[in-house]
Amino acid sequence: GLNISSGSHRPNGKFSKDSTKVDSFSRRQKILQHRKSLPIASVERRLIEEVRNNDILIIVGETGSGKTTQLPQFLFNAGFSRDGTIIGVTQPRRVAAVTVAKRVAEECGVEVGQKVGYSIRFEDVTSSSTRIKYMTDGLLLREALLDPYLSRYSVIIVDEAHERTVHTDVLLGLLKNVQIARSKSFNYHLDNESKKAKNGMLVEKEKDPQSISFLKECQGKKFPPLKLIIMSASLDARIFSEYFGGARAVHIQGRQFPVDIFYTYHAEPDYLDAALITIFQIHMEEGPGDILVFLTGQEEIESVERLVKERLQKLPENNRKLVIFPIFSSLPSEQQMRVFAPIQAGFRKVILATNIAETSVTIPGIKYVIDPGFVKARTYDPNKGLESLVVVPISKAQALQRSGRAGREGPGKCFRLYPEFEFEKLEDSTKPEIKRCNLSNVILQLKAMGVDDIIGFDFIDKPSRSAIVKSLEQLYLLGALTDECKLSDPVGCQMARLPLDPVYSKALVLASEFKCLEEMLITVAMLSVESIFYAPREKLEEARTAMKCFSSPEGDHQTLINVYRASDEFLEKRKLGLGQEKIDKILRKWCKENFINSRSLRHARDVHSQIREHVEQMGLRLESCGDDMLQFRRCLAASFFLNAAIKQHEGTYRAFSTGQVVQIHPSSVLFRTKPDCIVFNELVQTNHKYVRNITRIDYLWLTELAPQYYAMQS
Ligand code: ADP
Ligand code: MG
Repeated sequence: GLNISSGSHRPNGKFSKDSTKVDSFSRRQKILQHRKSLPIASVERRLIEEVRNNDILIIVGETGSGKTTQLPQFLFNAGFSRDGTIIGVTQPRRVAAVTVAKRVAEECGVEVGQKVGYSIRFEDVTSSSTRIKYMTDGLLLREALLDPYLSRYSVIIVDEAHERTVHTDVLLGLLKNVQIARSKSFNYHLDNESKKAKNGMLVEKEKDPQSISFLKECQGKKFPPLKLIIMSASLDARIFSEYFGGARAVHIQGRQFPVDIFYTYHAEPDYLDAALITIFQIHMEEGPGDILVFLTGQEEIESVERLVKERLQKLPENNRKLVIFPIFSSLPSEQQMRVFAPIQAGFRKVILATNIAETSVTIPGIKYVIDPGFVKARTYDPNKGLESLVVVPISKAQALQRSGRAGREGPGKCFRLYPEFEFEKLEDSTKPEIKRCNLSNVILQLKAMGVDDIIGFDFIDKPSRSAIVKSLEQLYLLGALTDECKLSDPVGCQMARLPLDPVYSKALVLASEFKCLEEMLITVAMLSVESIFYAPREKLEEARTAMKCFSSPEGDHQTLINVYRASDEFLEKRKLGLGQEKIDKILRKWCKENFINSRSLRHARDVHSQIREHVEQMGLRLESCGDDMLQFRRCLAASFFLNAAIKQHEGTYRAFSTGQVVQIHPSSVLFRTKPDCIVFNELVQTNHKYVRNITRIDYLWLTELAPQYYAMQS
């Protein structure tokens, strides 16, 4: 009979009363049209040919041309994921992996997690039927720990390679080796099979003396060859091509409309304020079109969001047609998609984004870009061994990318919140992250994969020798490496299994010994999100009073635990029989009353449950120290001893490891008490060097609990 309920069946007017079906049908038509109109659509067949003919291919194409969403589908349709293999696509950013996967799932007409899925740290939305998998570059690196040949993948696309995150760089080196090893294993077996066919016996092939050291058991297994595709938005394909021995590069022609660039006359003392003024100026004076504002992080985004909403209330009713959408990496993933949805006619979107909107995600409808010219970046001083996040000026290349976002669908305007002569002073391009970050995390992972010679590893850009040495030293001091610089067992192996910064991994491993893993789990989860407390300028006093209910005289770590447990207790009492949506709602209300950032708390709760799974699988003992918080603080000292500081005169502190003079950040609960000796987790550099997330410790614990470091010092 006639199957009218099937998704692929075209409902005709007679049968279909279900209006949602017609809607979803017209939506699918729209999507199809949109897909066909993308620049990449016209070169589908050529691209497939190129991939067939080249094991490594570099694809350069303007942002928004359809690389990320379309190419994996082309490959799938051309049969590249045969025999249950997977087409993997890596992204430097979580948000991109999530939003793109959801979009592509929709384009394919499937639920995300089925044929199309994504996997990011702390969130895996894939299944055995997943054939196109979006993930972060860091996640694929972790997969390589368990499956060194990445044997489930037939194609790996390293997307946004121009971003040059430390994970992308390490991944490229690793993939280069995996590809060689896989094609060797393949040829070896082909060889053997043809010889077997000829002679009726198996001939052992000589071992290749140059066989890659870290891929040890390759000879026994047969892997299909791996296709590698490197995608990038910037025009400079040369560096990747050279790195892969002159690999072929193809360019996809994009479309770009002219964008008028405006500069300020003078330097702006407060770029947030300038951004706010510009948003309203555009809103009141310019024609229709959405506004994209580049900010540096969650805190800035949320404060601008608040200010815009406030100011909007003061405008006459008919000028209030502005809708604000924040987008940043720790935004809960179901909220990330909202920015893509169409809004009521006559309204204007204001998108407040971190630099994820620079190249990773393309939001339709943007006509105006506001660019203060800053980005939050990691910096690392290998001599001091200290990494920090600082707000720095963007590069010229970034400024161009940002302004280009205004000209995708028609002519646009970009407002740079700095004078033109400042633009001239910007660096041409951004330094690769590997040159300016702490390497202990990746070194730990490389070691766990059996790569022992870190200095000899084939990096696309070599990190400085001193940075490598410093990180090795740090890992050694944490007990992850042995005297011979090998991964230690069990501590190093356990640390490598946890998807966390080595210092935090160490804290968890230690906490199971100190019998306070429950507390440490909460601490690490809370430390992995930005700003749990929320203190709007106009309600600072109220916020401070609210914070007092949670604050602990011992320090911020215990304060964070108090917040977490209070939210737990609150939910425990109420959530019986409630759905997730209701739970979220009452949690939001609780957060608001207590001046807690509900987005951050939710994220921390998610992270908590994920890490808990990890530590449980590892067999670590999940115990609580109960009221014995001394035990917990001793564990903090034993874990974070590299970040200990002692009080000097006038209330400043001297960090033991670096000799730097630092101050307690005003947001810390210890800001006023200023104990004699502290451990901290974060160094923030503004006009002062501030430390944040601090706990009071006893100086003597350091020599007792970290003799490997402090016995040497004294
Ligand atoms: P590229 O990778 O070349 O920068 P993408 O494949 O990311 O390009 O984007 C192609 C098109 O898909 C863009 O026009 C973008 O606006 C659209 N798009 C991407 N994600 C979504 C989404 N979640 N919702 C609606 N449109 C989207
Ligand atoms: Mg892309």
